[in-house]
Amino acid sequence: MNYGKVTEALVEELRGLLGPKNVICDAERMEAYSHDETSAEEYGHMPDVVVTPTSTDQVTAVVRLANRERIPVTPRGAGSGLSGGAIPSLGGISVSLEKMNKGKGLFYAGYPMSLETCFLGGNIAENAGGGKAVKYGVTSRYVLGLELVTPTGEVVWLGGKLSKDVTGYDLTHLIVGSEGTLGIVTTAIIRLIGLPKAKSDLLVLFRTPAEAIACVPEIIARGTIPVSMEFMDKLSVETSCGYLNESLPYEGCGAMLLIEMDGQDAATVDADAERVGDLCMEKGAIEVYMADNRTTQERVWSVRRNIAEAFKVRCPVQSLEDIVVPTASIPDIIPELDRIAAKYGIAIPCYGHAGDGNLHATLVKDPDMALEVWKKAEPEALEELYAAVTKLGGKISGEHGIGLKRKKYMAEFMSPVEMGLIKAIKMAWDPKGIMNPGKLFDLD
Ligand SMILES: Cc1cc2nc3c(=O)[nH]c(=O)nc-3n(C[C@H](O)[C@H](O)[C@H](O)COP(=O)(O)OP(=O)(O)OC[C@H]3O[C@@H](n4cnc5c(N)ncnc54)[C@H](O)[C@@H]3O)c2cc1C
Repeated sequence: MNYGKVTEALVEELRGLLGPKNVICDAERMEAYSHDETSAEEYGHMPDVVVTPTSTDQVTAVVRLANRERIPVTPRGAGSGLSGGAIPSLGGISVSLEKMNKGKGLFYAGYPMSLETCFLGGNIAENAGGGKAVKYGVTSRYVLGLELVTPTGEVVWLGGKLSKDVTGYDLTHLIVGSEGTLGIVTTAIIRLIGLPKAKSDLLVLFRTPAEAIACVPEIIARGTIPVSMEFMDKLSVETSCGYLNESLPYEGCGAMLLIEMDGQDAATVDADAERVGDLCMEKGAIEVYMADNRTTQERVWSVRRNIAEAFKVRCPVQSLEDIVVPTASIPDIIPELDRIAAKYGIAIPCYGHAGDGNLHATLVKDPDMALEVWKKAEPEALEELYAAVTKLGGKISGEHGIGLKRKKYMAEFMSPVEMGLIKAIKMAWDPKGIMNPGKLFDLD
């Protein structure tokens, strides 16, 4: 597609619309908006101008101007994304919503693990979901309505303060997960729930990943719905413990489950935890440790939360993946990861949300491997990983999205009919193709 240019006259027009302090065009300050949490070296791209609107009216004015001049617009939340969605890959205008983030410590149960750094708008655009998804579900479950600035610069309210609504197509939830390609969310109505008063965590050691995973559906089938069931293979636990100088008793274990229960009443939560612990032992666990106070809970969760960081220290050259397979197929994907890792001489630690089949199987370069060898091995290993995921009925991303990073693989995971429908929706909403172009798929 041919796009218009951001000229000095256009920047001046933006200054007139938003005020000079909401328009950034010096390279040093714009650098922060040229990447997200994916590798800046590999995916980064500078915007031509950054705007920081403070109201829906200002967002609308910017989008109208961009639509008039056919300039790419890239919506941006906090930039914590892991698929390059907020990167202005074709230049143009980066619309940062940082001054419209008005949430004050509100609790919505669909939040991701990056809760301290991301924005609600980014969560909606990515349909984010974190470790609590087994019990509480992901962002879409909590979005009742939203205000959207469409790519043609109109403001529309979708949904509302309604628990039930079948009035026409569910456009609210078309926007959830649309990665900023169909408009800019400026306000959202989110369902909030009461904070649980009690929680208990179990750290369960198993000899093999297969034994660990076999427990997951059993726990749910027997009537207890934990908040989360996090899976960590031995390599992940070892590396994170080494990084934290932590000494969890993982000798002899091949995999762990970190299971969290919560509720309004401590006695019920403890009873649930005990029942789940007994069930794990019955299913072959080596040991069950209960963490029922804040200090031990923080210790065990810290091991889980620091896995990604620990591998970055081991070698920063890596590809953090986000595959999702049917939960029952997790034991089948793990030997595939081992096979691919051995074939290419790389490490593929596997950890993630076992309760919903979403695994962060991360391809990590061996520190001694030459960069040239990695550059050849990584795409081939990724192809094999995705082929294995497809075979098991899985998908390429469970929570981080497609963005820039994964768009070339979309065709493998979507039929031509589905892809055609998605492109038709995009063209209907955004006839000039200005809203976050180059993400999810290319239009031509
Ligand atoms: C340490 C770490 C842990 C993470 N854990 C999780 C996890 O547990 N679960 C999970 O799902 N993700 C996780 N993520 C990924 C990331 O935090 C989420 O995708 C988050 O939802 C992105 O929010 P953001 O505000 O940073 O959005 P950004 O990165 O700024 O943008 C993400 C996408 O949303 C679009 N966008 C942003 N704001 C708007 C808006 N107002 N309107 C329309 N489009 C918009 C952008 O164009 C882009 O396509 C993690 C990331 C990190 C770094």
